[in-house]
Amino acid sequence: MGRSIYFFGGGQADGDAQQKELLGGKGAGLAEMTRLGIPVPPGFTVTTEVCNAYYAAGKALPAGVEDEIRAAIGRLESLLDARFGSPEAPLLVSVRSGARASMPGMMDTILNLGLNDEIARGLAKRTGCERFALDAYRRFILTYADIVLGVPRDRFEEALGRARKQAAARLGVDATRLNAAELERKVPDSLLDPESLAALIQRQKDIVLGATGRPFPDDPYAQLWGAIRAVFDSWKNHRAQVYRKMHDIPEAWGTACNVQAMVFGNLGDDSGTGVAFTRDPSTGERRFYGEWLPNAQGEDVVAGVRTPHPLSKSGAGGVSGAGGVSGAGGVSGTGGVDDACSLEAQMPDVYAELVEVQATLERHFRDMQDLEFTIQQKKLFLLQCRTGKRTGRAAVRIAVEMAKEGLISQREAILRVEPGSIDQLLHPSIDPSAPKKLLARGLPASPGAATGQVVFSADEAERRAGQGKAVILVRSETSPEDIHGMKAARGILTARGGMTSHAAVVARGMGKSCVAGCSAISVSQGQMAVTLYDDHGHPTDTITVKAGDLITLDGGTGTVYLGAVPTVPAALSGEFEELMVWADAVRRLRVRSNADTPHDARTARNFGAEGIGLCRTEHMFFDEERIQAMREMILADGEAGRRRALAKLLPFQRGDFVGVFREMAGLPVTIRLLDPPLHEFLPQDEAQLHQLSKAMGVPAQDLSRKNEELAEYNPMLGHRGCRLAITSPEIYEMQARAIVEAACEVAAAGIEVEPEIMIPLSMTRRELAITRALVEGVAEKVFAEKGRRVDVRFGTMIELPRAALVAGELAEEAEFFSFGTNDLTQTALGISRDDAGRFLGAYVEAGIFARDPFQSLDAAGVGELVEIGRDRGRAARPGLKLGVCGEHGGDPSSIAFFERAGLDYVSCSPFRVPVARLAAAQAALAAESSRGPRATD
Ligand code: PEP
Ligand code: MG
Repeated sequence: MGRSIYFFGGGQADGDAQQKELLGGKGAGLAEMTRLGIPVPPGFTVTTEVCNAYYAAGKALPAGVEDEIRAAIGRLESLLDARFGSPEAPLLVSVRSGARASMPGMMDTILNLGLNDEIARGLAKRTGCERFALDAYRRFILTYADIVLGVPRDRFEEALGRARKQAAARLGVDATRLNAAELERKVPDSLLDPESLAALIQRQKDIVLGATGRPFPDDPYAQLWGAIRAVFDSWKNHRAQVYRKMHDIPEAWGTACNVQAMVFGNLGDDSGTGVAFTRDPSTGERRFYGEWLPNAQGEDVVAGVRTPHPLSKSGAGGVSGAGGVSGAGGVSGTGGVDDACSLEAQMPDVYAELVEVQATLERHFRDMQDLEFTIQQKKLFLLQCRTGKRTGRAAVRIAVEMAKEGLISQREAILRVEPGSIDQLLHPSIDPSAPKKLLARGLPASPGAATGQVVFSADEAERRAGQGKAVILVRSETSPEDIHGMKAARGILTARGGMTSHAAVVARGMGKSCVAGCSAISVSQGQMAVTLYDDHGHPTDTITVKAGDLITLDGGTGTVYLGAVPTVPAALSGEFEELMVWADAVRRLRVRSNADTPHDARTARNFGAEGIGLCRTEHMFFDEERIQAMREMILADGEAGRRRALAKLLPFQRGDFVGVFREMAGLPVTIRLLDPPLHEFLPQDEAQLHQLSKAMGVPAQDLSRKNEELAEYNPMLGHRGCRLAITSPEIYEMQARAIVEAACEVAAAGIEVEPEIMIPLSMTRRELAITRALVEGVAEKVFAEKGRRVDVRFGTMIELPRAALVAGELAEEAEFFSFGTNDLTQTALGISRDDAGRFLGAYVEAGIFARDPFQSLDAAGVGELVEIGRDRGRAARPGLKLGVCGEHGGDPSSIAFFERAGLDYVSCSPFRVPVARLAAAQAALAAESSRGPRATD
């Protein structure tokens, strides 16, 4: 292990922006800002290596680290002319987590550390503000007790309520009839006077003593060790684990811990704290954007307890429509109110300095930055600077605009957008012409439309979503503990909090619709009261929404509607199209789509699919009329009966293929012949059996017996795929006829067709030879009947390990291979894809697999089979076309593997096509840079 502590302060820093792995994002940003001469309170970072060593040693700080920390505190003391633990010139510090990747709100932070009774008195003297000192002290005890000592926050609620009542009595407010929320509104924290605070502090300490059996620690160093441990511990808390899993952040990274001199945004009206983005994180628009709260500390803005003010006057940024801190203005808050409260209006000099700092930082880091700042008596300090989280829409716009501004290259722009994040751009939004009942307006915290049943707790969201229900999680404000509920919900609605609140930041990261700071709603006791306003912002009525009621959110405008509102398909922006053009110019892999109907084919083509990589013909059999004929075919006694039923299916199949070929004019269409075991099409219950018996004129008993005969112990490894054609060739005959007739019909209309017939689940050359002869025989007959020929290619899926191993033999018969990585994963791992869900989570949690191998290709095992199949196949048939049509075809990290493996194309669901195009471009750029830079770059 190298050095444990990296100091920053006085214009110098041990670390820099490159050291995110060691210092975490926050630590690296603080070091870099210090180097740039930006005002940053001095401090030091305890490295992620120390965190990992702490865990390796069974949660003990490595030897020598405490001494290094004492020395760093000594440096801080001399820099600031203050002493840690001294009442005369108190040095207080914040202790904050900071991992390599930003994990907003998931880990712990402790502010105002270094206080005890005596030091608090000293702080009061030094600042001339007793109320401030006591407020800082009681907040510190509360946070420390909760995070370090494990005494939950709600244990202190009652004590805080008492303090409010005491203050109310002194203010002449009658508090006897008020509930907790009303009392808090009438006597907010800022009105707690020194006497009430002093009494509250004593009560808080008593609660700690009662709960832990020990007095609250008075020694600042004891406090510091406790806090650093707690920050490291928070790396493994439940919410951090859930977040890591969602964002693929490895457990092994660990968090750094930043200890930094406190500055105070709560020293009066000339102080404050805020959060800013150098560009709009929701839309990507190039404007300085953010929120602040006067006379507030640290987490007040992000915690979402008070609704903050915009930084800039309206038109220049900020959030119009957000009610003021007082709640005045509510849903119809006017620009005027916000303008007066904006930092630009309140402290123009500080605002101007901040604007300059943000421009410097964006230029320096060449990316949109997310900043946290504090103003202490009109002096600006930056507390954090990191690459800002953004919606997919914003990511695309920022990347394209920065490339046009010359800040980054087009290649960098392609690499800047996380392919998964553009998924959210492709989803529907509210139909503007649909009738809808407006319920309330809040902040447009994260775009997208979502309809669902209202739930009021994260657990309930998870429970109902688990039953397949769409839910909207409604909370007063969300806390990081709600993360599992946010994940399960379609959308999130909060009564309080701004655009930078936890709910907003996390929802944007997840691509979930979110409306935050909706002050017209109040949530309590399992229901939501909504105040309705007229056009002038006057309240007209109140209605109640209960759990289970349907609402719709429009996260792009911050609007909440009652009931379900219809949506319209996504309209893709010009920047998106531009980025895709750049991506297409660099990618090598072709991108096709898995589509079974003309409608899906059209969607896929609109998203840029370059053909169909998999048309699953069985999906065409589930319509009411068709399933009947299918069942007749399966249950028929002999070949003649089967052929009669198949003849009924032929026109349906042909019609579908005509539609698909037309949509995909000029592009290849791979059609797979029937794959699943036949019993999947059989009647599921008695009623269906009787209906079928009537239609076929066959006794129900006979059908039932046949049903039982077809049942298999292990259908996935049973009578399916091309095995069906070996026993009942007439099924594939009918399908081949439908395909070739359709191709001839479309070609006759002057439309170019490229049919490819694909055999599923083959594993021997003979299977392919038999099915190929069958297909070719049918094709020749059709050509003779129609008097025209079309080119029909013949190929196979590679879905079984044996198929990969004997790929050389298979390639003698097949003109193309498509790796069916769903089945190949299932058969290579011996894990049933239908049952894996029950235990694969535990495998991922235990680190046996980094990710679910059915989502992200197991490169070491299944990937090796793909490479064997590729090598042996191409050796037998040079130029053999190779594709992938399992789910992995739409997964960015798997796409990177397929690029390295030199396959020709991937195929994925229509909505994933743009994701795959971008991922393929990124993979091509990565492959190129691993080969060395291009001469033109
Ligand atoms: C596969 O197995 O990867 C595949 C695409 O086929 P299916 O998912 O239909 O079994
Ligand atoms: Mg398969």
